Amino acid sequence: MASTKSADTEGAKQAILDYCLRKGALAAGVADLEALERIAPPGHRPSDLMPKVKSVISLGVGGQTQGAWSVPAKAMGYFGSTETRAYTIAYGAAFFIEGMYQTPAIYCPPDMDNEKGPRVPLQSLKLHAEIAGIGARSLAGDILLHPEFGYMYYASIFTELALEPDQPMAENPCPAPSCVSMYRQIGRTPCQKFCPVQCLSGHIDADGKQAEMHYDMAACAEMSQQYEAVPALLAEAMAAEDAQGRDDILFDPDNKMLWYKMSVGSGGLLAQCFECMRVCPIATKSPLADPIRRSKAKAAT
Ligand code: SF4
Ligand code: SF4
Repeated sequence: MASTKSADTEGAKQAILDYCLRKGALAAGVADLEALERIAPPGHRPSDLMPKVKSVISLGVGGQTQGAWSVPAKAMGYFGSTETRAYTIAYGAAFFIEGMYQTPAIYCPPDMDNEKGPRVPLQSLKLHAEIAGIGARSLAGDILLHPEFGYMYYASIFTELALEPDQPMAENPCPAPSCVSMYRQIGRTPCQKFCPVQCLSGHIDADGKQAEMHYDMAACAEMSQQYEAVPALLAEAMAAEDAQGRDDILFDPDNKMLWYKMSVGSGGLLAQCFECMRVCPIATKSPLADPIRRSKAKAAT
């Protein structure tokens, strides 16, 4: 009986991961639940969200198109991200699991914990993906990178179905050899050098591996998570001494861009500025990093 159960579990895992890939994910895997429960802080463990959870499935979708990396920063600021595609697939996968295996499943909310403020997510989708083996932490603020797909956006599904976990990636593609060379010459990697607010720093050891990484989240958020800039701007306007001062703040050309982005629902309010990834060789030059590379690779097989 044991072998039948194991074969069924294996079949279910394959069917679920295949579903994710068929719907557009580039990579998918199952994270080790025990590791997640041990590493995630109390209140943010998978069991805090779904008490009877037995498996956490993580999937990643591709980031920008190849063409996106050549546009000027002022255009890139509107690009937003492809993460909603990942969420759509995760939602579908939860329905797929319940329909196929009559076992509860949920789409894991990628959102902020409303009791903890705008910088604390309910769950770390990044941790799920890292433990599931579909990304490794980079020197660019821990953005996950994959040696084949480069830079992805992640989503997670929780289920009470028990699935065999995958292993984290054995090798971290960051820092790339060219980044190590640059670091040896100028003491900084490309992401560190070109971040417009200089919020990245760290060290590479003698073996060319990550030794230390620092990320000033507040500085990055001010530049790229502009939902925090809106209340700050309103507070500044309310504190202005007179009507002219208020107008100057509210109608300042830079600030007017925030109103514009809000009015059109631009993903650029919530995205990165992308400059760290624009100069990252893993994000931009991995063999399957963008649709052109993936299409050429497919044609060559
Ligand atoms: S998204 Fe922009 S501000 Fe944030 S780390 Fe990357 S380059 Fe720096
Ligand atoms: S540019 Fe990319 S590969 Fe190089 S150190 Fe930064 S994140 Fe790592």
